Amino acid sequence: MEYEKLIESQRTFFDSGQSKDPGYRVEQLKKVLRLLRENEDTLYRAIYKDFGKSAYETYLTEFALIYHDLKLYIRQTKRWSRRKRVRTNLANLPGSSYIYPEPLGLALIIGTWNYPYQLTLLPAVAALAAGNCVIVKPSEIAPESSAAIARLINSNFDPGYFHVAEGGRETSIALLEHRFDKIFFTGSSAVGRIIYEAAARHLTPVTLELGGKSPTIVLADADLKVAARRIVWAKFLNAGQTCVAPDFLLVERPAEQALLEAIGKEMERYKAEVDKEWGNYLRIVNTRHFERLRALIDRDKVCFGGQTDAAERIIRPTVLKNIGFDHPLMQEEIFGPLLPVLAFDDLDTVLDQLKKMPKPLSCYVYGRNHQRIEKILRSISFGSGAVNDSVMQFANSHLPFGGVGSSGMGKYHGYAGFATFSHFKSILRKPFRLEPLIKYPPYRKWKMKIMRLLLE
Ligand code: NAD
Repeated sequence: MEYEKLIESQRTFFDSGQSKDPGYRVEQLKKVLRLLRENEDTLYRAIYKDFGKSAYETYLTEFALIYHDLKLYIRQTKRWSRRKRVRTNLANLPGSSYIYPEPLGLALIIGTWNYPYQLTLLPAVAALAAGNCVIVKPSEIAPESSAAIARLINSNFDPGYFHVAEGGRETSIALLEHRFDKIFFTGSSAVGRIIYEAAARHLTPVTLELGGKSPTIVLADADLKVAARRIVWAKFLNAGQTCVAPDFLLVERPAEQALLEAIGKEMERYKAEVDKEWGNYLRIVNTRHFERLRALIDRDKVCFGGQTDAAERIIRPTVLKNIGFDHPLMQEEIFGPLLPVLAFDDLDTVLDQLKKMPKPLSCYVYGRNHQRIEKILRSISFGSGAVNDSVMQFANSHLPFGGVGSSGMGKYHGYAGFATFSHFKSILRKPFRLEPLIKYPPYRKWKMKIMRLLLE
């Protein structure tokens, strides 16, 4: 099998115990940080070739998050990997109880293309911090970025410890033949199912970071100008190719007209000339996605934008109004710069409608009325979200990030990332002296009475 030798060398390395040493982990994390800093320009050039993403946006949405977590792990890994004492119950006294965090072993990280650095390296550094050996499989759909990561990692790390395996579907399939101790996948729900099945063969735990149709709800009492600015930025960031982007917009009917006007004003900032001048005109990643998105532009419903350029694979930020839940735009995750707007009269009806849809990765609510906001947050299930903002919860590493239901399972970012790649081994430690003998036969009624008092 193709990856047998690589995986064997990772097993040998892991079994040597070197990757478990917290001092070694911190050194390796510092090395990753130094290499990324030294090679930032090369990595910016690669992603620009893939889909025209500027250095500014790449820093903001990829490197800033990786650097933040790297620095956190460098500071905290030694502390987090220590055994932690917890309380001991009455029945186990005298005794003490501990939790020993330990790495799971070999981690396979399969990434996707829309944030090619962040979606591979953020879980990778969490896995290294937790003491694992790591193989990363980036997406073939962003080939320049994939090659840049592979060059950087493979020329600086022992493949037995940290390696990048490039390739497409066939590479994932070949890797999945082998037993890993953790699989971390980011991508579509359809491929997520395939990964889950493959992992089940070896009973390997998985984290699945998938997608979905994330709603944004604007209540009539929201500050519409601020809401428009934040929604437009979050939606059109990365040309809408963001898993946590607002997929569609639900606005309370009395605010619809004013919100659309505010959105129109905000979109002035996104004029093509300005974007081109800053080298920040993101392309749709490939022709297949470009054609899929172009077919979704319903000309009768376009309110702003709508222009497309097939040669450049550019779709101007587009807002469409008077959309219903049965419109083609509402059937699948859009994953592009098209924002359908649906007006609603009754919040309960809308919430019932949302409950019938698969659980999304995110949900955003804009408004001022605390009760109504809480009602929304508590009545529908989704991975993570924000009130009066969109997307930015992703950047707070104190908030575990992940999906629920068809948008995924498991969490990462910050400590949650460390925990995702760890096993917490529970240990009860007893002295030889002083043992209550009622645990042992012969069993008697009076012993049971005492046990009830001790155990419940
Ligand atoms: P995809 O699911 O097609 O591919 C993702 C990875 O899986 C790639 O590395 C690819 O090579 C591999 N792959 C593809 N087919 C495979 C197969 N049959 N067997 C094994 N591996 C296979 O990714 P996509 O559809 O281009 O990604 C977009 C989706 O990812 C959207 O739904 C988006 O919302 C989601 N996403 C989620 C997050 C998150 O953090 N939750 C982040 C980004 C994107």
